[in-house]
Amino acid sequence: MALPIVHYNHPILRKKGAKITVFNAVLRDLADAMVQTMHAAEGIGLAAQQVGQAVQLCVVDLRPSESRFDWVYDGTSPPLELFMPLVLVNPEVTALPKPETVLEEGCLSFPQIRGDVTRPDLITVKFKDVTGHPHTLQCNGLLARCVQHEVDHLNGVLFIDRMDPDALAELTPSLKELKKRTREARK
Ligand code: ZN
Repeated sequence: MALPIVHYNHPILRKKGAKITVFNAVLRDLADAMVQTMHAAEGIGLAAQQVGQAVQLCVVDLRPSESRFDWVYDGTSPPLELFMPLVLVNPEVTALPKPETVLEEGCLSFPQIRGDVTRPDLITVKFKDVTGHPHTLQCNGLLARCVQHEVDHLNGVLFIDRMDPDALAELTPSLKELKKRTREARK
């Protein structure tokens, strides 16, 4: 069942997620619901804060994307279908500072709002799956970007925080409007 998605500037989006220590059916059900929610919204990533839960859990699915990127998952390069949708529990990202790339990003918590964000192109992310098993993924391109965007959410960081100041200035009226709509919806 798809869950309601929290929009900017709901306070939970600024909350750092608690580390997950119990790997049980509750966690599996939440991860499943998040994957369904991401698919229903036609997104490529979703973090727990976006469904109202401040925990270290996010999901990614790049199978619908035509973007090209490379990956090494646990030391091999399996087809994407074998590890997507990807569920990341307690992920820790290490980025190679250079090269960086600029790409227009969107976010399911910011409907219709998009802007250029600069991020490192190559990352390593260490995480656990829903059973508590550890994994390492090295990747670049859109996959690295998507993982960085989602892991930022888990730390209360939003893509507008990383946006080019000029791009952000242009978005100010739309952001104000979205804030107002979110505030009114919570009343
Ligand atoms: Zn987002």
